[in-house]
Amino acid sequence: MSEANDCLFCKIIAGDIPSAKVYEDETTYAFKDINPKAKVHVLVVPKTHYANVAELAKADPAELAHIAEVAQSIASDQYNGSFRLVFNTGLDAGQTVFHVHAHVLTGETLDE
Ligand code: ADP
Repeated sequence: MSEANDCLFCKIIAGDIPSAKVYEDETTYAFKDINPKAKVHVLVVPKTHYANVAELAKADPAELAHIAEVAQSIASDQYNGSFRLVFNTGLDAGQTVFHVHAHVLTGETLDE
C-alpha cells in the first residue's frame, strides 16, 4: 500500500484516524461517511493512494471494478441491492478529499 503525506483517507485506512468500518479486504476499505447524504452513505476507497477515479482507472482498472462489486455487496447487505455510486472528481465537482472514494448511497428510495 502506498500512502500520501497528509491524506485524510490514508490516515483512516492506516487506523490513525478513527472510522466506522463497513468492509475491508487486502486492497479496499469502506467506512461510513461522517456527514451522510442518504440513510446509508458509505465511502469505498482503494488502500493505495490515487487522487481521483481517472487516475485509479488508468493505474488499476481491476481495483475500480472491485470497488463497484464492493458497493453492490454493501447495498445488498444493507438494503435491497439498489444503490447510487458517485465519484466527485475535481474542485468544481465538489471533490474535497483527493484520495479517490466512491460514495455509495443506498438504504432508501433516492431522489433523482
Ligand atoms: P464532498 O465533501 O463535497 O462530498 P468529496 O466527494 O471529496 O467531497 O467527499 C468527501 C467525503 O468525505 C464527504 O462526504 C465527507 O462527509 C466525508 N468525510 C470527511 N471526513 C470524514 C471522516 N473523518 N470520516 C468519514 N467521512 C468523512
